[in-house]
Amino acid sequence: MPALEFPELKPKIVLGVAAHPDDLDFGASGTMSMFASQGAEVHYLIITDGSKGSDDPEITSEELVKFREAEQRAAVKAIKGKSVSFLGYPDGMLEVTMDLKKEIVKAIRTIKPDVVITMDPSMLYSARRGFINHPDHRAAGQATLDAVFPLARDHLSFPELYQEGFMPHKTKTVLLTNFDNGNFYVDITKTFDRKLAALEAHASQISDMKNTAKFVKEMAQLVGQSAGYELAESFVRIDIR
Ligand SMILES: [Zn+2]
Repeated sequence: MPALEFPELKPKIVLGVAAHPDDLDFGASGTMSMFASQGAEVHYLIITDGSKGSDDPEITSEELVKFREAEQRAAVKAIKGKSVSFLGYPDGMLEVTMDLKKEIVKAIRTIKPDVVITMDPSMLYSARRGFINHPDHRAAGQATLDAVFPLARDHLSFPELYQEGFMPHKTKTVLLTNFDNGNFYVDITKTFDRKLAALEAHASQISDMKNTAKFVKEMAQLVGQSAGYELAESFVRIDIR
C-alpha cells in the first residue's frame, strides 16, 4: 500500500499499549525513541505478565515475570521513555473484555496521550511471511482501539471512572504496528541503535542478539524501501476526526 499524505506527527505525549514485554520494542521502539528525542513523554502499558515466554525448563513463571518486568523497564530506559506500567494479565490467555478495556481507558484518561501506539488487531496471519499472529496481540490491539474510541472519550462509559476523577480524553492519532500493510512510515535510521538497545534488554527472549539484530535490520531495510528511508518502521495511522 502506498504511503498516504499525513500531516507531520510531533506528539507531546505518547502511550504504547501491547500484550507482552518486548512487543513495542520489536514493532515501534525506533519511532517511540524518535518521539522521546523530540521531547515527547513516552509511556508503555504492558497488558500480560509474559509468564509463558520461555523454553527454559528450569525457569518458573514467577521468576520469568520478574525478569521480564525488569527487562521491559531497562528497554524503556534505553529509548528514554518516561514510564512503564504492567496490568499483569496471564500470558497466552488474553481476551477482549470490558474489564481490560476499562483498565486501558483508565491509563488513557490518566496519561492523556495525543498518540496511542498499539498492535494491529486485524492482523490474523501472514501467509507470505509464514506467520500466525499471537492471539494476545490481537486482543491487546482490539481492546486498545475500543478504549481509544469510544470508551475513553465518553464520560458515560465507565461512569465510576468519571466519578473518581478520570476525565474523558480524545486521542488524536492511533498508530497500529503493521509490517505488511502500513500506510505510514517512520524513518528510524537515527534511532535504530536505541531500538537495538531496547531489544537487547529483553535477554530472556533473545538468545542470539547478533542474529536478532541482523533480522531486525533486514526488516527495517525492507520496510524502508517502501518509503525511501534507509531504516523504517511501518504503521497503519488513523487520525481520528
Ligand atoms: Zn508478543
